[in-house]
Parts: sequence; C-alpha cells; structure tokens
Amino acid sequence: MTGRVIQSTGSWYEIDVEGQLLQARLRGKMRTQIAGLSNPVAVGDWVRLERDEEGKDTNIAEVLPRDNYIIRRSPRNKHHKHIVASNLDQALLVVTLSSPRTSLGFIDRFLVNTGTYHIPTALAINKADLLNAKEMSRKEAMTDLYRSLGHEVLLLSALSGEGMGELRAFLSGKTTLLAGHSGVGKSSIANALEPGLGLRVKEVSSSSGKGLHTTTFARMHKLDMGGYLVDTPGIKEFGIVDLEPAEVGHYFPEMAGRMEHCRFNNCMHRNEPGCAVLQALEEGLIAPSRYDSYISILEDVSAGD
Ligand code: GDP
Ligand code: ZN
Repeated sequence: MTGRVIQSTGSWYEIDVEGQLLQARLRGKMRTQIAGLSNPVAVGDWVRLERDEEGKDTNIAEVLPRDNYIIRRSPRNKHHKHIVASNLDQALLVVTLSSPRTSLGFIDRFLVNTGTYHIPTALAINKADLLNAKEMSRKEAMTDLYRSLGHEVLLLSALSGEGMGELRAFLSGKTTLLAGHSGVGKSSIANALEPGLGLRVKEVSSSSGKGLHTTTFARMHKLDMGGYLVDTPGIKEFGIVDLEPAEVGHYFPEMAGRMEHCRFNNCMHRNEPGCAVLQALEEGLIAPSRYDSYISILEDVSAGD
C-alpha cells in the first residue's frame, strides 16, 4: 500500500491513501537512515505502508525516491537540515505592492532558491483591488520583468475574486508550494479557492516571537479540483542552501546567457573589465533591481554563513 504524507508532527504522519486519510508511524529502523537530516520523512513524500504484526498500527516502511525537495536549516541546530516538503510540481510566491510591500530582493532570493531546486515558480500579485495609479504602473513593470525571465505572473484579489479563474487553472492537478510573507493574503486566497480551506493557524510563541515547534512542519491541503497546496511556515529562514559564489549567476537567467562573453572566465560581474553583465546593465538590458539582488546574494554566500 502506498500513500502520500500530507502532514507530520514528527512522531505521527497523516497519509493520503487514494483519498482516505490514515495515521502512520515511523518504524524505529528508519529514523537514522539519512545522515544530516533531522526528518527522514517529509510532507509530500510518497511512502510504502505496512501493518504491524497485530494489524493494529500502520507503519511507514519506505520512502519512495523524491523528485525534488526543499530544505532549510533546522531552526534549533544550524548544522541540521530539515526537508520542508518534497515532490513539488511548482511554487507560487504571493506578493503585494503595499500593506505589506514585498521587496524585490526577497522575490529574487526566493526565485534563486526554487531555481536551485528546479521548481518552476510563479508570482501572484495579490490585493489588486488596493492598487493606486503609482502602484498600478509598478505592477506593470514587475509583471513585464518577471514574465521576461520566464515566470508566470498572476494578478489576484482574494477580496474581489479577480484572477481566481487563472489561479485555479494554475493549481489544478498540481502540487504547489504556497509561499509569501505573512499578511500578503495566503489564507484569504486559499479560502477564496475553497471556503473552509483554512491554512494553518498562526501559532507564535509569546516569549520569543518565533514559531512554535509544530509550525516548523509544512502541511499539504488537498484541493477539491485536484492537486495540493503546500503551506509552509517560516519561509524567511529558507536561506540560500549550498550555493558557491560562482554559481549564483547561473540562477539569474538574464545573466547566465551573457556570462560566457565576459573577458575573464572567472568573472564575478562586480567591477571586472570586459564584463558582459555590467555592460548589459549599463545598456538597460538587465534590471538594476535584479543586479542588486545578485550582488546581495553573492555577498551572503561569499560570507559562507
Ligand atoms: P496571510 O498571512 O498571507 O495568510 O494573509 P491573510 O490571508 O491572513 O490576509 C492578511 C490581511 O489581508 C487580512 O486582513 C485580509 O483580509 C487582507 N487581504 C487578503 N487578501 C486581500 C485582497 O485581495 N484585498 C484586500 N484589500 N485585502 C486582502
Ligand atoms: Zn562578468
């Protein structure tokens, strides 16, 4: 019997077996199977299940090979990595131009992250009903920029329903990682899609202001129209995992195609003479915001944090 892990508490797992939900446990033997990862079974995993000898409990006997997975550092131990979710078809980053304003730097970091995992990523600009004239033109510029880089861009309003048809088409039958800062409208969008499809209740521990232990696990919501929404806590902590400074440019498609024309083959596109990227920036072929994001990420990975 195989099924898909849709929720995990660390000791129990909720498994979707052809539409039926089962609770399963992990067999002791599997716990240490994957070195360096604090969770051997992740939300999104396809697993093989077995009944124990008395036929009482269902156990996870095997995790089937993953197509991909998103990891982050464990919030409790810097050296531990934690699989947030696996077997994702795509990601949707919900952003807003105001209340709150999502920075372009944050968007670019997210795109580099999902780029390293080869997860196609779309942007949803939510709260379309709130846009004033100035924001409207920023929305246009942003749409053009990210579409030119190969990302789908949706304009949504969870409030008015604008764009919901396109969103349905985008999500239908797919496993989609839903991300975005708190307050951009992820829960509202989920509810507008399917009333009652509440995303996680935001549990915040009063003492530290950080999420409680349970919120470090992602959760999958099954959609009536087919497919799943993967709800993740703490995407801010994603970090750029395991990227060498020389690799960063490869995740900026507008730079990747030009790098081979740089004079030096180890060019980092900072201030080197004969740099094709800097030249394209000067000619307006690369957006200054994208170049700034590149430099900022480059500094982070060079610092080796
Ligand atoms: P989340 O933290 O990303 O899940 O955001 P919520 O769904 O909780 O939304 C945060 C706030 O924004 C709530 O007060 C929502 O009512 C509001 N909101 C969400 N979507 C929209 C929208 O499309 N238009 C407007 N005007 N407000 C919205
Ligand atoms: Zn260069």
